[in-house]
Amino acid sequence: MERCACLSAACSSRGCLCRQQRQGPAETAAPAPAEKHVEADAAARCCAGSGGIASPRPPPPPPRCSLQDLPVELLVEIFASLPGTDLPSLAQACTRFHSLLHTDSIWRRRCREEYGLGENLQDLEVMGVSCREVYTQLLHPHRHLLGLWQLDTEPYRELLKVAVDGLGITGWKYLPPHNRRVDGRMQLKPSFRIRLTERKSATAECRAGCSSRSHSLHIQVQKDQFTTQCNRIDHRRMSGCSGTNFPNWVRAERGLEDRLLSYHHSDCLTYRRLYLPPSHPDDLIRPGLFKGTSEAGSLKIAMLSFQGKYARATKITGDPGIPAWKETLEIHLRHRIQLPNVKILRNFNVLSRIVRAMHEQVVQEQQEEEDRPEDSEGHGWQGPAQPSIGGSGAAALEEQPAHSFVLPAGVRSSDQNCPRTYRMCFYGVDMVTFYGFAYTQRFPGIVFLFDENHFGFLCLDLKCFLLYSRVQDTFRNVEAPSPQAFLEMLENVQSLPLGGAACTLKI
Ligand SMILES: [Zn+2]
Repeated sequence: MERCACLSAACSSRGCLCRQQRQGPAETAAPAPAEKHVEADAAARCCAGSGGIASPRPPPPPPRCSLQDLPVELLVEIFASLPGTDLPSLAQACTRFHSLLHTDSIWRRRCREEYGLGENLQDLEVMGVSCREVYTQLLHPHRHLLGLWQLDTEPYRELLKVAVDGLGITGWKYLPPHNRRVDGRMQLKPSFRIRLTERKSATAECRAGCSSRSHSLHIQVQKDQFTTQCNRIDHRRMSGCSGTNFPNWVRAERGLEDRLLSYHHSDCLTYRRLYLPPSHPDDLIRPGLFKGTSEAGSLKIAMLSFQGKYARATKITGDPGIPAWKETLEIHLRHRIQLPNVKILRNFNVLSRIVRAMHEQVVQEQQEEEDRPEDSEGHGWQGPAQPSIGGSGAAALEEQPAHSFVLPAGVRSSDQNCPRTYRMCFYGVDMVTFYGFAYTQRFPGIVFLFDENHFGFLCLDLKCFLLYSRVQDTFRNVEAPSPQAFLEMLENVQSLPLGGAACTLKI
């Protein structure tokens, strides 16, 4: 009861309503000693305004009120607008609040606003489950599991999206793309599902196997990683359903044998949390996940982020040639390349000369920067990204005239459906550490920015064009809490052993 009295300070009583409607913000914020005077004054104005005769006696002070005096409907409305995490302590305040917090509309709103649970809430009645139970037994206890994750111990480094889905929480794994079109949709397959049982407790079921019969799964969440332990390891050994090997067409094309692609089977899988890069109004396009072609012809998933004077597209999945996180396309936003006409774009030799000249300029500038380390930047979010462009951000991209795009003669691309126009191009370097090599190779070239969802890299040394297209999916709970947290995640994941600790891939 004491806590109710304390909360009453925040109350706007029915008696105060007239005063509040007539006062300006400055009066509302007036200090307590002046309040009585303001009330009397406001009441006098109130009566005068209504045509009445002002009483010589001051009106009685408005009655004191507390939250306890509010009607049930209003209390329910207030409670429903509070974060769900505050409600348990509110329930301990008094028996009336405790009783009111069993009102299901409060928890229905919390489920909707905090977890996006909108559909199928009517089904709860049929199942005999309340929104409060869904919130307290399912959603809140598993909130740290929501987001984007990556499997730690296999060559492809499968991505996993854990999201609220219907009346449960589902872990969806992204299958390796089966075609070479970057605009194709990502394929998802359920890996596990957490749901409420008839006993109204949450249970996790493994859905990773080929068999439609689900079985129990143990999930343990730590800060930025979680492990799943399934008692049935046979399903992962069954052909075609592991999702952890490379797609069959990659294997066939590269002549790889299964033994080369096998990895240590374990009944315990570890996933590491991935953040998507924070976005900034200066970014030329929205950062995020992109599908990209590779020199080997397979599709990869890359994460585009803007970091000061560079944009970086880091390959986060593995393939037979390059481990996950060991290829980064670095886009030099301050080294823009102008190609006056499409004839130059067709001429590979002219392009090579342009890139070589830009490369030498960049090397020289980097040398000068090393001599003046205090001036170097580009590892954070500070500073304008591209001062030479004139504007900033997506607006600057839109303002650029569209130039015709064609592939230069003799350059191959595994996806021929490149956009027909581009807006801007920059000097870029693809930095790759191949399997079996300790050093990083650098391939200079030209990065073409087509539109909000497409960019591409012309690699002159390898005479190939790599096209990138945005992964069109809805992600929740994936924003990095800060730019620093994102950079730390990048650093941690890039320092992992090649292909994961248990990987036996050798090419
Ligand atoms: Zn299983």
